[in-house]
Amino acid sequence: MLFDDNVAVHEQAYQTEGIQPQASDTGLEVLLTNETLVKLRSSQYYIVRDFNYSKPYLLPKAQVFIDTLAYTYSIECQARELAYFPFTISSGTRSVASVGKLMTQNSNSIKNSSHLKGKTFDVSYTAFGDNKPQLKAFSSALYQLRRVGKCYVKYERNGTLHITVI
Ligand SMILES: [Zn+2]
Repeated sequence: MLFDDNVAVHEQAYQTEGIQPQASDTGLEVLLTNETLVKLRSSQYYIVRDFNYSKPYLLPKAQVFIDTLAYTYSIECQARELAYFPFTISSGTRSVASVGKLMTQNSNSIKNSSHLKGKTFDVSYTAFGDNKPQLKAFSSALYQLRRVGKCYVKYERNGTLHITVI
C-alpha cells in the first residue's frame, strides 16, 4: 500500500477550507469553545494519545472522517476474521507556537505546519505492534477512503501516517 501524497498535495486541501493558523494554544481553546473545532475522545474504536505538541481538536468533518475510517476498518477486520484492534491517534492540531517548539527539536518538522488547519491528524502505525494483520486491514480501509477522494495520506518514517481530510 503506497501512501505518498506529498506536502503540496496536502496543501490543496487547505485552499478552501480550514481554520486560520492560531498563534498559541489559547486560540485553539477559543475555537473549541465556539464549536468551530471538536475534541477527539478515546473510544472502543480508537485511542487518542496524550499529545505533546498538539491538541486533540479537529474540524467536525474530520471527526466524521475518523468515524468512517473506524467503521471501514471494522468491516475489513470482519472480512478477514480478525479481532478489532483500536488504532492510535498520535497528533492533532498545532498552534504556531507549538510548531516553533517542534522545529527546535526537529528541523524536518516544517512540513508539520499542515497541522495548523484543523484538518490533519496522525495515526501511529507502530502502535499496532505485533498486530500486523490488523495494520494491513487498517491500511486497506485508509486506502479505500483515499481512493474515493476523502483524504490524502503520507507515510512518515517517524512511525506515523499523516492524514489530511478533504
Ligand atoms: Zn502529521
